[in-house]
Amino acid sequence: MTDTETNSIQSLVARIKSGETSPIACVVDSINQIRQRNDDLFAFISDCEADALAQATELESAIKSGTDPGPLAGVPIAIKDGICTRGHTTTAGSKMLETFVPPYDATIVTRLKQAGAICIGKTNLDEFAMGSSTENSAFGTSKNPWSTDCVAGGSSGGSAAAVSGLFAPAAIGSDTGGSIRQPASFCGITGLKPTYGRVSRYGLMAFASSLDQIGPMAWSAQDNALLMNVLAGHDEKDSTSSREPVPDYLASLPQPIRGLRIGICEQHMAEGLDDEVRKSVADAIGLLQDLGAEIKNVSLPHSQYAVATYYVVAPCEASSNLSRYDGVRYTARESADDLKAMYSKTRKSNFGEEVTRRILLGTYSLSSGYDHELYKKASKVRRLIKQDYDNAFADVDLIAGPTVPTTAFKIGQHAQDPLAMYLADIYTASANLAGIPAISLPCGFSAGGLPIGLQLQANMFDEAKLLQTGHQYQTQTDWHTRRPQP
Ligand code: GLN
Repeated sequence: MTDTETNSIQSLVARIKSGETSPIACVVDSINQIRQRNDDLFAFISDCEADALAQATELESAIKSGTDPGPLAGVPIAIKDGICTRGHTTTAGSKMLETFVPPYDATIVTRLKQAGAICIGKTNLDEFAMGSSTENSAFGTSKNPWSTDCVAGGSSGGSAAAVSGLFAPAAIGSDTGGSIRQPASFCGITGLKPTYGRVSRYGLMAFASSLDQIGPMAWSAQDNALLMNVLAGHDEKDSTSSREPVPDYLASLPQPIRGLRIGICEQHMAEGLDDEVRKSVADAIGLLQDLGAEIKNVSLPHSQYAVATYYVVAPCEASSNLSRYDGVRYTARESADDLKAMYSKTRKSNFGEEVTRRILLGTYSLSSGYDHELYKKASKVRRLIKQDYDNAFADVDLIAGPTVPTTAFKIGQHAQDPLAMYLADIYTASANLAGIPAISLPCGFSAGGLPIGLQLQANMFDEAKLLQTGHQYQTQTDWHTRRPQP
């Protein structure tokens, strides 16, 4: 990247606006990186070279003619390949959509373009965002730039690898049970899952509609704030998007966090937590205390059921959402003697193993006679998880803990054990079930040199507090400024 010092988006935009560098130079840098290193890291499924260069050329003339090129002028951005980009394949990591070219842009893509950002490529993901490692992608596994034996996380693993592998200073991910925060934690970057409804999902291929949320991934909380200023807000095209006014996320960053009440949840520091992660997270909380935050204990007694609840609710919604991929609309179609055989042949040969497992789990959990014990019961537990947060946020402003129990695991390590993979969503899934926002911040490294993430969770629509606290933490630490050796 051009801005090798810090990869800060703000300084990059300032240098572009002052003429010190140019949108074309930035795009060319990104493209060169992709050409040189994507075969190794597999952050991207496809690049957007021609469109990116055309947009950069337009921006250059806008800058020359004195037109305001926008707050993200010339910033190369990597977009998860489950988010629609007009005229450009959007696969959702699935063979089913291998050649699907959407006729429209997702709302966030439109917003980013209007702000001057340039989409340089579409990033790898677990098929339909189901997974934690991108090993479920139909096209390959993204590698962790800190150690290429390890996964970059998932499902937005390609987006995290695109930023930490220095292909682009920013990326967009989606998070249904942890898919922005877990790869951010594994790759040593900052990633925010906004409140449910804060960012439009028009053009996001639906996985579990009551949980899905789009959000930013970049090195720092400050860059996340800049991106949120562009991404957040109501969208007529997404009926679940909120009309809650959007604050200026950059404005809150400089405020000190003295007096902020931060809750520690004993259930989140319990068994199964790796010792190095525990220590780094405890140190980070100690630092927040030094900055004047008041640390209190909170209890989230139902969080122990979060994984079980999530793995009923999410597959139920997925089984319904994925019924649209039937070989009639969209792309892949296998030929067969009759319509029913065509449906089943198309789905059988174009969905991967994990997606098939989720569809089966979801269909079973919704079937008459079982739905009371499964889907309906899970919905009730979900309510209790939300109530725990409501009670906790009566006492504290934020809740701090680890993002993931471990650092990035080895490629192949959990491939034959889906349950082990599911259990690692323990700290992330409850924010989606409750709809609250949460951020992952780099807070240390293991002895083996792998990044560790601190998770902060906040009450509904309190993203500004997450970003402010993250920024204040990052003014005192340099974890987010470390870069992997290429
Ligand atoms: N790891 C979780 C899953 O497999 C979360 C995925 C996500 O947030 N998209 O479902």
